[in-house]
Amino acid sequence: MADPAAVRRRALDKHTRALAREWRRLLSDQLRRYQRRVADVLPAERSVQRMLTAGDLERILAGPEEVARLLEEFGRELLEAAIREAMRRELSALGRAALFDALQVTIAADLQLGRMVVEVSDYTRERVGIVVSEGIEAGASVNDIQAALQADQGFSPMRALRIGRTEAARAQTEGQLAAYQQAVADGVDFEVEWSSAGFGERPEHRALDGQRVAPGGLFVVPIAADVDPRYIGATARGPALFAQPGLTVNCRCTTVPRVRSPA
Ligand SMILES: [Zn+2]
Repeated sequence: MADPAAVRRRALDKHTRALAREWRRLLSDQLRRYQRRVADVLPAERSVQRMLTAGDLERILAGPEEVARLLEEFGRELLEAAIREAMRRELSALGRAALFDALQVTIAADLQLGRMVVEVSDYTRERVGIVVSEGIEAGASVNDIQAALQADQGFSPMRALRIGRTEAARAQTEGQLAAYQQAVADGVDFEVEWSSAGFGERPEHRALDGQRVAPGGLFVVPIAADVDPRYIGATARGPALFAQPGLTVNCRCTTVPRVRSPA
C-alpha cells in the first residue's frame, strides 16, 4: 500500500505548482500596474527632484484597487480543487462514502481567498513603498525605480512559489479538517497524526512528526533538540495554520488520519 503521507505530499506538490504558476501570473500583472503608476505619478525628469508626498505614494500603491483586482482575477477554482481533493481523500481514507458538502468547499475557499489576498497585498505594498521611497531618496529616475521594482523580491518567482506552498498547504489542511469533522459526526473513531516532510523541514516540524491529536484538536510544538524556544508551545490545528509565519511559510507537512477501531 502506498505510504499515506507520501500520497498527501504528492497532492500538496501538485497544488503548490498550480498555485505558484497562478501567483507568477498575478504578480507580473501587478508589477506592470505598479510600474505604470510610478510613471503616472512621478515627474519623468530626474532633475525634477521633489519629496515623495503621502498622496503620491497612496496613488502608486492603490491599495483597495489592487486588493479588489486580485480577488477578481485569482483563479479560485484552484483553491477549491485543492480543498475538495483533500476532503474527498480523507473521507475515503476514513471509510466514509466520499460524499462531501460542496457548499463547505466554497465557504472554505472564500475564507482562504480573502485571507490570502490581504496577506499577499500587504507584503507587496510594503515592498513597493520601500523601493519607491528609497529610489526617490537616492535621486533615481522613473526608469530606475521601475527597474528596481522588477528586480525586487516582492515580484520574484521565488515569492510566487512561497505563496503557492503556503496556500496549497492551507487548502489541504482546511479540506482535511472539514472531512475530519464530518467523519466525527458520522461516528468514526480516529486520531490525526502530524507527518513532517523530513529532509529540509524546520526542526519545529520534525519535532511534531508523529504527534497525534483528536480530530480538530491542536498540535503543540514540543520542547526538543533544535526547536527555537520562541516557538515552544505554539499551536495549530494543522500544517500552515500557525499564527507565526515562521512556522507556516514553505511547510510541506501533512496530517494522516489513524483509525482506532474500524467503523
Ligand atoms: Zn512543515
